[in-house]
Amino acid sequence: MKRILFLLLAVSALGMAANPAWNQPFPPHKVIGNVYYVGTSELSSYLITTPQGHILINSSFEESVPVIQAAVEKLGFKFSDIKILLISHAHDDHTAGSALVKKLTGARFMVMDADVPVVEAGGQGDFNYNSHWPATKVDRVLHDGDTVALGGTVLTAHKTPGHTKGCTTWTMKATDGGKSYDVVMVGSPNVNPGFKLVNNAKYPTIAEDYAKSFQVWKALPCDVFLGAHGNYYGMQEKYKKMQAGGNPFIDPAGYRAYIAEKQQAYEANLQRQRSAK
Ligand SMILES: [Zn+2]
Repeated sequence: MKRILFLLLAVSALGMAANPAWNQPFPPHKVIGNVYYVGTSELSSYLITTPQGHILINSSFEESVPVIQAAVEKLGFKFSDIKILLISHAHDDHTAGSALVKKLTGARFMVMDADVPVVEAGGQGDFNYNSHWPATKVDRVLHDGDTVALGGTVLTAHKTPGHTKGCTTWTMKATDGGKSYDVVMVGSPNVNPGFKLVNNAKYPTIAEDYAKSFQVWKALPCDVFLGAHGNYYGMQEKYKKMQAGGNPFIDPAGYRAYIAEKQQAYEANLQRQRSAK
């Protein structure tokens, strides 16, 4: 009980909305082609399978790792076949489990340049949060537009900063039923409570970074809309719908609407913060 109370206090001190419900198992499922959802009820992790081993996007919290491992195995894949670990961005709910995933799989960890210092310092140095997670050595530093290739699948790392300095949106092509689809995994367009968009000494370019990222998102071709949290793209509802047939994850209109809504929210927030000065 004391421990739980301590954890609650610690979590609220960090200001992160870490919610135990986020770590509940969720039925792992094929999204499209060689892309599978292996995340928790709320925190997205994707397994990209290839004949030469697999890529995992997002280790999430340390407590999420056993949930992700069970999901991978339930789909009939081996957790130890994960060769490459990627993340959406350097916040604890997407990367705190990375050291553990590396230890269990020996995967190479590849992270966008501006997120590397925070990941390697175990959460320290973020412009907004004071998080603590096991510091994780990065094996390859990525830059905007870099590709990650394994077994015939190529992922492209788009730097979409603002939410973190190295926030990354991943894209790839997936083939399903003889057709090719553009898959987009959004890093995060959210302006979290407490984010300073104006006069941010720790992140002076934050506002222009968000603005540029929205241009990137708007320009990306998207058939299959995915993201760092299931709630970005209505994962749970779409999973239910999929049981009735069809593939609701193919949702280009949903992607455009989501990005437009988030851009409006960002611009309104910026306006509010500017006029409060
Ligand atoms: Zn985040």
